Amino acid sequence: MRLWSVRRARAMEFAYQALEGALKALHPVFAKIGYARLEKPVAAVERAAKGFLFDCQMCGQCALSSTGMSCPMNCPKSLRNGPCGGVRPGGFCEVKPAMRCVWDQAFVGSLKMKRGRTIGQPLSPIDHRLWGRSSWLAVARGDHKRMDEAR
Ligand code: SF4
Repeated sequence: MRLWSVRRARAMEFAYQALEGALKALHPVFAKIGYARLEKPVAAVERAAKGFLFDCQMCGQCALSSTGMSCPMNCPKSLRNGPCGGVRPGGFCEVKPAMRCVWDQAFVGSLKMKRGRTIGQPLSPIDHRLWGRSSWLAVARGDHKRMDEAR
Protein backbone atom coordinates (compact mmCIF):
# COMPACT_ATOMS: atom_id res chain seq x y z
CA MET A 1 0.00 0.00 0.00
CA ARG A 2 2.93 2.30 0.81
CA LEU A 3 4.12 2.20 -2.82
CA TRP A 4 0.56 2.74 -4.05
CA SER A 5 0.42 5.96 -2.00
CA VAL A 6 3.75 7.17 -3.41
CA ARG A 7 2.47 6.59 -6.95
CA ARG A 8 -0.48 8.84 -6.05
CA ALA A 9 1.62 11.43 -4.24
CA ARG A 10 -0.06 14.38 -5.97
CA ALA A 11 -3.54 13.26 -4.93
CA MET A 12 -2.25 12.47 -1.43
CA GLU A 13 -0.70 15.92 -1.21
CA PHE A 14 -4.00 17.49 -2.22
CA ALA A 15 -5.83 15.47 0.44
CA TYR A 16 -3.18 16.34 3.03
CA GLN A 17 -3.48 20.05 2.30
CA ALA A 18 -7.25 19.85 2.73
CA LEU A 19 -6.79 17.98 6.02
CA GLU A 20 -4.17 20.47 7.19
CA GLY A 21 -6.55 23.37 6.53
CA ALA A 22 -9.35 21.63 8.41
CA LEU A 23 -7.10 20.81 11.37
CA LYS A 24 -5.89 24.40 11.66
CA ALA A 25 -9.47 25.70 11.45
CA LEU A 26 -10.44 23.31 14.26
CA HIS A 27 -7.73 24.61 16.61
CA PRO A 28 -10.15 26.71 18.74
CA VAL A 29 -12.45 23.68 19.14
CA PHE A 30 -9.54 21.38 20.01
CA ALA A 31 -8.19 23.93 22.48
CA LYS A 32 -11.58 24.14 24.16
CA ILE A 33 -11.85 20.35 24.49
CA GLY A 34 -8.22 20.12 25.56
CA TYR A 35 -5.37 18.74 23.46
CA ALA A 36 -4.32 16.37 26.23
CA ARG A 37 -7.76 14.80 26.27
CA LEU A 38 -7.78 14.45 22.47
CA GLU A 39 -4.30 12.97 22.15
CA LYS A 40 -5.15 9.30 22.66
CA PRO A 41 -8.27 8.98 20.44
CA VAL A 42 -6.88 11.15 17.63
CA ALA A 43 -3.55 9.29 17.68
CA ALA A 44 -5.47 6.00 17.41
CA VAL A 45 -7.37 7.18 14.33
CA GLU A 46 -4.17 8.60 12.81
CA ARG A 47 -2.30 5.36 13.46
CA ALA A 48 -5.01 3.33 11.71
CA ALA A 49 -5.40 5.63 8.69
CA LYS A 50 -1.73 6.43 8.10
CA GLY A 51 -0.63 2.96 9.07
CA PHE A 52 -2.79 1.60 6.26
CA LEU A 53 -1.80 4.20 3.66
CA PHE A 54 1.88 4.83 4.49
CA ASP A 55 3.02 2.18 6.99
CA CYS A 56 3.23 5.08 9.43
CA GLN A 57 5.31 4.35 12.53
CA MET A 58 3.84 7.28 14.52
CA CYS A 59 7.03 9.30 14.92
CA GLY A 60 4.87 12.27 15.88
CA GLN A 61 6.57 14.68 13.49
CA CYS A 62 5.27 13.75 10.10
CA ALA A 63 7.51 14.37 7.12
CA LEU A 64 5.34 12.91 4.36
CA SER A 65 4.73 16.24 2.65
CA SER A 66 8.51 16.72 2.34
CA THR A 67 9.33 13.16 1.34
CA GLY A 68 7.14 12.41 -1.65
CA MET A 69 4.57 10.69 0.62
CA SER A 70 7.11 7.95 1.38
CA CYS A 71 7.45 7.54 5.16
CA PRO A 72 11.17 7.81 6.02
CA MET A 73 10.66 5.90 9.27
CA ASN A 74 10.32 2.67 7.29
CA CYS A 75 13.99 2.89 6.36
CA PRO A 76 15.71 -0.04 8.16
CA LYS A 77 18.46 2.39 9.13
CA SER A 78 15.85 4.91 10.37
CA LEU A 79 17.45 7.59 8.21
CA ARG A 80 15.57 10.85 8.53
CA ASN A 81 17.66 12.23 5.67
CA GLY A 82 18.53 9.85 2.91
CA PRO A 83 19.25 7.91 0.90
CA CYS A 84 22.35 6.26 2.33
CA GLY A 85 25.14 5.25 0.03
CA GLY A 86 24.00 1.64 -0.20
CA VAL A 87 20.97 1.77 -2.50
CA ARG A 88 21.05 -1.28 -4.76
CA PRO A 89 20.57 -1.15 -8.54
CA GLY A 90 16.90 -0.69 -9.35
CA GLY A 91 16.30 1.33 -6.18
CA PHE A 92 16.30 -1.52 -3.65
CA CYS A 93 17.39 -1.41 -0.01
CA GLU A 94 20.86 -2.43 1.06
CA VAL A 95 19.60 -3.98 4.32
CA LYS A 96 16.40 -5.60 2.95
CA PRO A 97 17.15 -6.45 -0.69
CA ALA A 98 13.50 -7.21 -1.53
CA MET A 99 12.33 -3.84 -0.26
CA ARG A 100 12.21 -0.63 -2.30
CA CYS A 101 14.40 2.05 -0.72
CA VAL A 102 12.06 4.51 1.00
CA TRP A 103 14.30 7.37 -0.03
CA ASP A 104 14.38 6.28 -3.65
CA GLN A 105 10.59 6.26 -3.45
CA ALA A 106 10.65 9.66 -1.76
CA PHE A 107 12.35 11.12 -4.82
CA VAL A 108 9.88 9.36 -7.15
CA GLY A 109 6.91 10.71 -5.16
CA SER A 110 8.35 14.20 -4.83
CA LEU A 111 8.48 14.58 -8.62
CA LYS A 112 4.69 14.26 -8.66
CA MET A 113 4.12 16.80 -5.90
CA LYS A 114 3.88 20.57 -5.95
CA ARG A 115 6.09 20.68 -2.84
CA GLY A 116 8.47 18.22 -4.46
CA ARG A 117 11.18 20.84 -4.54
CA THR A 118 11.54 20.56 -0.74
CA ILE A 119 12.93 17.04 -1.07
CA GLY A 120 16.50 18.37 -1.09
CA GLN A 121 16.08 20.31 2.15
CA PRO A 122 17.35 18.49 5.24
CA LEU A 123 14.80 17.38 7.80
CA SER A 124 15.29 18.14 11.48
CA PRO A 125 16.65 15.30 13.61
CA ILE A 126 13.91 13.18 15.13
CA ASP A 127 12.65 14.26 18.55
CA HIS A 128 12.25 10.93 20.35
CA ARG A 129 9.90 12.43 22.93
CA LEU A 130 7.20 12.65 20.25
CA TRP A 131 6.96 8.95 19.31
CA GLY A 132 3.35 7.75 19.42
CA ARG A 133 1.93 11.25 19.51
CA SER A 134 -0.46 12.66 16.93
CA SER A 135 1.06 14.69 14.10
CA TRP A 136 -2.41 15.86 13.20
CA LEU A 137 -2.83 17.57 16.55
CA ALA A 138 0.66 19.03 16.20
CA VAL A 139 -0.44 20.58 12.89
CA ALA A 140 -3.58 21.99 14.53
CA ARG A 141 -1.47 23.53 17.32
CA GLY A 142 1.00 24.99 14.80
CA ASP A 143 3.91 22.92 16.15
CA HIS A 144 5.01 21.95 12.64
CA LYS A 145 5.28 25.55 11.55
CA ARG A 146 7.56 26.27 14.52
CA MET A 147 9.62 23.18 13.73
CA ASP A 148 9.97 24.27 10.08
CA GLU A 149 11.08 27.73 11.16
CA ALA A 150 13.60 26.24 13.59
CA ARG A 151 14.93 24.10 10.76
S1 SF4 B 1 6.92 10.53 9.01
FE1 SF4 B 1 6.28 9.90 11.10
S2 SF4 B 1 4.12 10.53 11.34
FE2 SF4 B 1 4.67 10.64 9.11
S3 SF4 B 1 4.00 8.68 8.25
FE3 SF4 B 1 6.17 8.43 8.87
S4 SF4 B 1 6.19 7.69 11.02
FE4 SF4 B 1 4.13 8.44 10.51
